[in-house]
Amino acid sequence: MSSHSHIPVHTRSQALQQRAERYFPGGVNSPVRAFRAVGGAPPFIDRAKGAWLTDADGNRYIDYFGSWGPMILGHAFPPVVEAIERAARNSASFGASTAAEADLAERVIACFPAIEKLRFVSSGTEATMSAIRLARAATGRKIIVKFEGCYHGHADGLLVKAGSGVATFGIPGSAGVPEEIAHLTLALPYNDLAAVEAAFDAHPGAIAAVILEPVVGNAGCIVPAPGYLAGLRSLTKREGALLIADEVMTGFRVALGGACERYALDPDLVTLGKIVGGGLPVGVFGGKRALMDMLAPLGPVYQAGTLSGNPLAMAAGLATVSYLQEHAAEIYPRLEATAKAVAEGVAAEAARAGVALALNRVGAMWTWFFTPGPVTNYDEAAQSDTAAFGRFHRAMLDQGIWLPPSQFEAAFLSTAHGEAEVAATVEAARIALQA
Ligand SMILES: *Cc1c(COP(=O)(O)O)cnc(C)c1O
Repeated sequence: MSSHSHIPVHTRSQALQQRAERYFPGGVNSPVRAFRAVGGAPPFIDRAKGAWLTDADGNRYIDYFGSWGPMILGHAFPPVVEAIERAARNSASFGASTAAEADLAERVIACFPAIEKLRFVSSGTEATMSAIRLARAATGRKIIVKFEGCYHGHADGLLVKAGSGVATFGIPGSAGVPEEIAHLTLALPYNDLAAVEAAFDAHPGAIAAVILEPVVGNAGCIVPAPGYLAGLRSLTKREGALLIADEVMTGFRVALGGACERYALDPDLVTLGKIVGGGLPVGVFGGKRALMDMLAPLGPVYQAGTLSGNPLAMAAGLATVSYLQEHAAEIYPRLEATAKAVAEGVAAEAARAGVALALNRVGAMWTWFFTPGPVTNYDEAAQSDTAAFGRFHRAMLDQGIWLPPSQFEAAFLSTAHGEAEVAATVEAARIALQA
């Protein structure tokens, strides 16, 4: 266990960041990695094993972001590494079908009864973008309802009042999205059924789909109020609109069958990503057979991908999902207990230090909001003291605890996190919150 009595050195990371800034905007290939919301230069990662990251200067960290969700079995989990190695020896890509695609599809369908047929893509962004095209084709309608603070990837129509990096940087959407496209997206407050009802009244017969994170992760963790998901299901059914559960983050995370299982939700379409690829780039959109059969080559909705169903990605996904499925009865209760111990342990240290902190948690995903709370929607999340979060983040990082670098992101843990990691994290928080 590394316990730092002094601030770790980051000279090698700083040099690597300076070099990266010559080639990549902000030095990064995805904006929140730049640590702009919390200050300081981001450590560069050299390698990771289990619950532990090692940076370019040799500092070690307990990992609470897990590559933003995928690494639920911990880093370099041997069955996943072996599956990738085995697949790579047979060539990395063919652009023709392989048995592994149906192998993984069968596992996904077994976990998500709402999915009868699916397509593999290479990112969550592609999954939600394709689901929306399908929903518009199926309904012959144009308007999409989303919720403030939910992030569904960076396709044009979904960047309206989005969470994740968009929330982190406090911007309403994105430059470069034409008004004509933004106007087809209605962003409503989360956990407010009356707002959805009012939108259907204001746009009769025009709303193609309601898309949501059934547990929000991208505004920080926000829990669906009792009856909210069921209410959305019956409203969309009544109005002839589709319900799209974006489970890119929550799928295989809040339960094996994601939020659909945890809250008994039966959406028309489900999107997956992150865990389903086991750390390699995979997304899924799937749902009712009749809907999915509208896709080319059977139907008129076009969607394609050179690397879709890539053999290495399928191998990593299959190793991950098979392991989760075969050990679910043991894994999910343990994830729940470990997450509860660390999330509540840190919250108790905050209470002891007189720091107002609202904890939202569902299974092994949670957020400590630096606000008295409650946090039930984006506006309430935005009340958080982001400067205090930034100081907490930096103080934790200095003690070897890697939290997601924004107040508006969820923390995750893996099956590799145990009592020692929990104890070290709570002790680090005790020190960080006194500072
Ligand atoms: C991460 C995420 C996405 C986007 O997935 P990418 O693979 O980053 O494109 C979409 N929806 C949700 C809920 C996510 O958490």
